[in-house]
Order: sequence, then C-alpha cells, then structure tokens
Amino acid sequence: MMRRPGKSSVSLVIPLYNEEDRLPGLVAELEAFRAAQPVVNEVILVDDGSSDGTAALARSLTAGRPGYSLVRFSRNFGHQVAVTAGLHLAGGDAVVILDADGQDPLDVVPTMIERWREGFDVVYGVRRSRSADSWLQRTTARGFYRFFQRFTEVRAPVDAGDFRLLSRRVVEAYRGLGEQQPYVRGLVAWLGFNQVGVEYDRPARSAGASKYAWRHRVRLAMDGLASFSGRPLRYAVRLGILTAIAAVAGLAWVVAAKWSGDTVPGWASLTFVAFFFGGVQLFFLGVVGSYVARVYEEVKGRPRWIVQERWDSDGIPREGSA
Ligand code: UDP
Ligand code: MG
Repeated sequence: MMRRPGKSSVSLVIPLYNEEDRLPGLVAELEAFRAAQPVVNEVILVDDGSSDGTAALARSLTAGRPGYSLVRFSRNFGHQVAVTAGLHLAGGDAVVILDADGQDPLDVVPTMIERWREGFDVVYGVRRSRSADSWLQRTTARGFYRFFQRFTEVRAPVDAGDFRLLSRRVVEAYRGLGEQQPYVRGLVAWLGFNQVGVEYDRPARSAGASKYAWRHRVRLAMDGLASFSGRPLRYAVRLGILTAIAAVAGLAWVVAAKWSGDTVPGWASLTFVAFFFGGVQLFFLGVVGSYVARVYEEVKGRPRWIVQERWDSDGIPREGSA
C-alpha cells in the first residue's frame, strides 16, 4: 500500500506485561501529553499476555477516549515481539516505541518529532544517565552495547534501547523483515535511512517491578548477537585450528622425550587436558546448536504472535489477528 508521505500524525506503541499498577498513571500522563501534542492521534497498547488485570483495566481507562487500540496476545510472546506487532498495526506518519513504565519519558517525544520534521527517519533515545537502574544493570548494559558494536557489522548506536521514533518508510521496511526472533534496535540500525540520537536521562520505573528477568536480558543479548553476527562460529573454527596445532606440537614433544629416554610423567594433568578440551568442544557445539535452533525457528515459519482480541476505544470491535 502506498501512502502519501505526510507528517501530520504520530502513533505511540506501548507494550504491556502485567502493568496493572502502572496503567492509571500511564493513561493520565498520555492524556496530558496528547492534549499538548494533538499530532499524536493514536496509541497502540499491546498486552503481551498479561496474567493480571492489565487488559481489562486498559479498556476501562481508555473507553470513550479517542485513538486508543488494545491488542491482546493469547499468551506472553516477549517484549520485542510485542513491539513488532505494534509496528504492524500503527498507522501514523511516524511511530514512537516506548515502555509503559515511564522510563522512556514522554517529554522527550516532542524533540523526537521535531527531528523527524527536520527530515530524520529514525530518532533514537540515547541514555545519558540511568542512575535509576542498578549498578549491575548499568554496567552490563554499557558493556554489551559496546561489545555489540565491535562484534557485529551493524552500526547500532551505543546506549540506545528501543525508545525511538520511526518514520513511515522505516516502519514499512521493518514490516517486511519477518524475523522470528526480532531484535528491534539491531534491525532498525540495519535498515539504515537517516538516523539521529537525542539524549535523555533515564528515570526509575514509575510503578510495579521490572518485567525483564535476568535470564530474559541474557536471551535478548544472545538474540542480538546471533542475529547480527556469525563470528562465534568463525571463532570456533579458529580455536579448533589452534588447538590442533598445539596438540601436534605436544605430540612432537612427547615423542622427543620418549627418544631421549625420559618418560613424560603426569596422567593426572592429562586427564584435565581431556576435560578441558571436552568442555571447549561442548561449548562450541552449543554455539553451533544455538544457530541451528534459530534456523529451525525461522524455517517453521510460525506466526510470531497470536492475537486473542482487539479492541478500540471508540467501541468498534474488530475481528481477527494483526
Ligand atoms: N514487557 C512486555 N513483555 C515482556 C516483558 C516486558 O511487553 O515479556 C513490557 C513491559 O510491560 C514494559 C516494557 O516491556 O512496558 C519494558 O519492560 P521493563 O520495564 O520491565 O524492563 P526494564 O526496563 O526493566 O528492562
Ligand atoms: Mg523499565
């Protein structure tokens, strides 16, 4: 579908997972924000299979207010998938992705819109400070963003999360990607176009607890690396070659020692060498396996999310999935 590229409407995409505690505050902030920014005429709330009353509460809080849509997944599919679904549904000339918890402050959005109007296609938020997050979280995140930069061929900006504005043509290009395990910030960087950052201070979560367990953070990091780099596989090959060379050298040494009459002592140390290389082999088998698993996910080609229901605040029920 071709659309006239205008700059007169902006959609917000907000993923929600068990955000009951946060919702009343969020909707109040959104209402105040939209009163000041009438260009924001659509808010897509994606309920990522919450097990609390998030969906019902979102409906009752937004009923009768213009421009809210709620999409409810049939179960929890994960934050990155929820954001992707939101991008598929949003109809604005630009779309802003933000977390529900106030950590991606709405008052940065007008600046993003300004930059977009100046002609940028992607305006991403750069975390100047994130004093509210724990030391461990800050340090691992900083380390990871830099590692990702060096490790992959994608020039993803450092210290930027998913909080960003995308122009219509970027959204259309993103929709064409169809990856099973999307790593949104990496994919958007991969898409190219004119990208620019705006700095902001990342505040603490407004209400409720973080919905990202550490194992999810690790998973997100692995997804990011595996979908943008084949380097772990190349490292496995190199390490294998080095080990083989070392083994040949070791063998030569053993034979030489035998000829010169010394027997090489130390079965115990030999056992540990065997253990060590057993471990290394298993590790890289695991690395290879994780790529195979990704291929398997892609090949199955299952839908990335299942919509249980859709609801619009203007009261018109809609059928089917996104
Ligand atoms: N979220 C989601 N699905 C999940 C986990 C989180 O849609 O499986 C949403 C959550 O409701 C919030 C955003 O993703 O709007 C970011 O989550 P959170 O603030 O808990 O992550 P953190 O800021 O701690 O990394
Ligand atoms: Mg958060």
